[in-house]
Amino acid sequence: MQIYKVGGAVRDRLLGKPVTDIDWVVVGATTEEMLAKGYRPVGADFPVFLHPKSGEEYALARTERKNGRGYGGFIFHASPDVTLEEDLIRRDLTINAMAEDDQQNLTDPYHGQQDLEARLLRHVSPAFAEDPLRVLRVARFAARYAELGFTVAPETLELMHQLSESGELEALTPERSWKEIARALMEDQPQVFIEVLRECGALKVLMPEIDALFGVPQPEAHHPEIDTGVHTLSVLEQAARHKQPLTVRWACLLHDLGKGLTPEKEWPRHIAHEHKGLKLIKAVNERFKVPKDCQELALLVGKYHTHGHRALELKPSTLLELLQSFDVYRRPQRFEEFIAACEMDARGRKGLEQRSYPQADYLRGAATAARSIAVQPLLEKGFKGPELGEAIKGERLKALKAYKDQA
Ligand code: ATP
Ligand code: MG
Repeated sequence: MQIYKVGGAVRDRLLGKPVTDIDWVVVGATTEEMLAKGYRPVGADFPVFLHPKSGEEYALARTERKNGRGYGGFIFHASPDVTLEEDLIRRDLTINAMAEDDQQNLTDPYHGQQDLEARLLRHVSPAFAEDPLRVLRVARFAARYAELGFTVAPETLELMHQLSESGELEALTPERSWKEIARALMEDQPQVFIEVLRECGALKVLMPEIDALFGVPQPEAHHPEIDTGVHTLSVLEQAARHKQPLTVRWACLLHDLGKGLTPEKEWPRHIAHEHKGLKLIKAVNERFKVPKDCQELALLVGKYHTHGHRALELKPSTLLELLQSFDVYRRPQRFEEFIAACEMDARGRKGLEQRSYPQADYLRGAATAARSIAVQPLLEKGFKGPELGEAIKGERLKALKAYKDQA
């Protein structure tokens, strides 16, 4: 049997990027031989093994044939007579379809190295269209390598377009889609992921609520960039620039969905967009079975981001309601993430990226003031049950009044 390094490890070495996980392909072996050498089987659908020591993935060379819709609709064929070239041709991009032996001899039948130099994301063969996940993968690689100057080859974009129109994207499982979305959002230029999806028509299918924001104007006085879609991408860009976690990035992407529902005659104002957007945020969350922490933060940021911006003008009672809504006493981190999302929203405006955001510290101070109320003295005074709750609230309100007065 021959063993080759494939995929990302080869690509990233040639790009001079750090290689984190290594994928291997094994040519000329049977499952039985792999098991005899101590490899542990993991693939349910096709023969993939984990190395007994390193734990890295070793896949038997295979071919595949499309047979029906979605990812389930594949017939795999792995046997010792499948060649390296046959295995590589089923891969998504030419830059991902190179292999390397232990002497670093490159096998590159589909000219991946040439495309690396030309900074092109190009599909390997027309079979690209057989797995719609590749649309998301290409958009994710475009985001990851944007800073190196990579773009999607026109013929690949055209294929992605056809896939988006064909209805195949709907066959993707929420789990597969979310995994790509989450990884793409954590790249340094996640806005490129959304841009590429939009360009090929996939955004309209996957997240029509975001697609609908393009072409919707906002008041120029607050939003010099005017367009809501452009604003959303800038907010996401800021979130990445400030190294925000996935929860914050997801909330940034969804925070203004309500603006897509404003009747044209009300443009450029968007009265109550925060509230109107909630059902859309919920729908997107559910569509991709988004993890609970991301779901929650997106809904809270959607509902309260304008409160964040107006923090210094809020009445103490409104501040208290805000803090209660976040359960800031037990979930201080979540409130921090809310503040971060609000700040990214403020910075995601043309020409205002560097403006300071005093609301952030003000909100932190308010949270500290409300959290400083001790329960013990109230218990000692004999408060219990609902009365105790009211008494705590009263004390917190007093603390917030004092905080606002001295701020
Ligand atoms: P990363 O750095 O994100 O791990 P990668 O290219 O190694 O990038 P993997 O998901 O680890 O991506 O996949 C390894 C290789 O398997 C890819 O380089 C590609 O050749 C192939 N591959 C993975 N998923 C697909 C897919 N859906 N369609 C076609 N080829 C794929
Ligand atoms: Mg990999």
